[in-house]
Amino acid sequence: MTAAGWAPAVETVSEVAAAHARQSDENATFPTEALAAMRRTGLLGLLVPTAEGGAGGTLSDLVDVTLALGRVDMSVAMVFAMHCQQVAAITAFGGEKLRTEVLPAVARGERYLGSVTTEAGKGGHLLTAESALAHDGEMLRVDRQAPIVTGGPYADAFLITTRAPGAESASQVDLVYAARDQLEVEVTGGWRPLGMRATHSVPMRLRGAVPQWQVVGEHGGFREIATTVFAPLAHVGWAAAWLGTAAGAYERLLRHARGEAGRRQFNPSSELVLLRLAGIRIRLDAAHALLRHTVSVVADAPDMSAAPVQLLLNTLKIRAAEESFAAADELVELSGLRHGYLTDSPLALERTFRDLRSASLNYANDRLRLANGALALRDQAVRLA
Ligand SMILES: Cc1cc2nc3c(=O)[nH]c(=O)nc-3n(C[C@H](O)[C@H](O)[C@H](O)COP(=O)(O)OP(=O)(O)OC[C@H]3O[C@@H](n4cnc5c(N)ncnc54)[C@H](O)[C@@H]3O)c2cc1C
Repeated sequence: MTAAGWAPAVETVSEVAAAHARQSDENATFPTEALAAMRRTGLLGLLVPTAEGGAGGTLSDLVDVTLALGRVDMSVAMVFAMHCQQVAAITAFGGEKLRTEVLPAVARGERYLGSVTTEAGKGGHLLTAESALAHDGEMLRVDRQAPIVTGGPYADAFLITTRAPGAESASQVDLVYAARDQLEVEVTGGWRPLGMRATHSVPMRLRGAVPQWQVVGEHGGFREIATTVFAPLAHVGWAAAWLGTAAGAYERLLRHARGEAGRRQFNPSSELVLLRLAGIRIRLDAAHALLRHTVSVVADAPDMSAAPVQLLLNTLKIRAAEESFAAADELVELSGLRHGYLTDSPLALERTFRDLRSASLNYANDRLRLANGALALRDQAVRLA
C-alpha cells in the first residue's frame, strides 16, 4: 500500500470498526476485528518508510487516517494513532538492526506496538521514569509496572520508558523496545472506565530481558525522542482522533436532522437550532485549522525544541481536547434526551461525550499549561509559530 492509496484500507477498517463499536464500548473489550483489519489492509504500516516495506506516509497522512477512524470509533482512532507514534520513534531513532527487525514486520501487519510511558509514582510525566533498566551480562533487564496500556493484552511488542542503567536521576530516561515473547506479561487489573472503553487500557507488569540494540537512540536520550517525535506525534494524533470523533458525531446529527424523523425535531428556521449548529461548527473548524497549521509547522521546523514550536504543540493538545469535548457537550444539549442521552440512539452522542471526556486527562491539560507558562517566559519576542 502506498500513502496515497490508503483510502480503501481506511474505508475497510472504518466499516469493521463501525460494526463493532457499540459492543466493544458496552463490554469494554478491545476492537480485535478492527485491529485485524488494520493488519490485513496494511494500515498498521502507514508510517513505515517505503524502503522498509511500508506506505511511507507523512504526518499529514496520519492526520487524515486518524480523523477518518475517529468518525466511527474514537478508541480505534487512538489505538491507531498511538501505534503510529511508536513506529515513528523507531523509524527516527532506532538503530539499523532494530529497524530491520521491526519495521518490515509492522508493514506486513505482524506487529501492533503498545506504549508504556505512564508509571504509578510519576503519573503521566513523560520525561521521568521510576523503574530502572539494569545490566544483566550482555542483556538489559526490564521490570516495569505499567498502570495503563492501551490494547496491552493484544500488543505484539512494546516501547517502554525506563531509567537508563546506572542513572543518577529520574530524568535520565531510556526508551526500550521489547517483543511480547521476550517478556513475562502479567495483566494486574481490570479496565472499567467512563469512556474510551474499547481501548482496553489495562494495568500490566512487564518483566524480561532485551539485548542492547533494542534501546531506541542513546542511553538517557529519551528527551530528544520525546521532543522531536513522541510529543508531536501524540498531540497531533490525539487531536485528530478527538476532532474526527466530534466531526463524526456532528455529521450523524446533521444527517438525522435532515432526515424524515429528524425534521419533526429540528426546525431549520429556529434561531436557537441555527446558533447552536453554528457554534459547534466553529469549534470544529477552529480546531481543524489549528491541527493542520501545527502539522505544517512540524513538517518544516528546523528545531523542534524551539519554544514557539513546543508552545504550539501543547496549545494544539489543550485546544483540541477542549473544543472537541465542548462540541460533544453541545451536541448532546442540542439533541435532547432521546438522541443525546440514551445509549441506544443510533447517533451515539452519549458514547462520543464519554469518550471525549478523556481528552483533557490524557496527558493532563494542566501539565501542558504549566509547561507553556515556562516556555512563554523563554520567548520574550513572542515568535508565533
Ligand atoms: C484512554 C487512555 C489511554 C491511555 N493509554 C496509555 C498507554 O497506552 N500507555 C501509557 O503509558 N499511558 C496511557 N494513558 C495515560 C496518559 O497518557 C496519561 O499519562 C495519563 O492519563 C495521565 O495520568 P494521571 O491521571 O496520572 O495524570 P497526571 O498527569 O499525573 O495528572 C493527574 C492530575 O494531577 C494534576 N497534576 C499532577 N501533576 C501535575 C504537574 N506536575 N503539573 C500540573 N498538574 C499536575 C493534573 O492536572 C491532573 O489533574 C492513557 C490514558 C487514557 C485516558
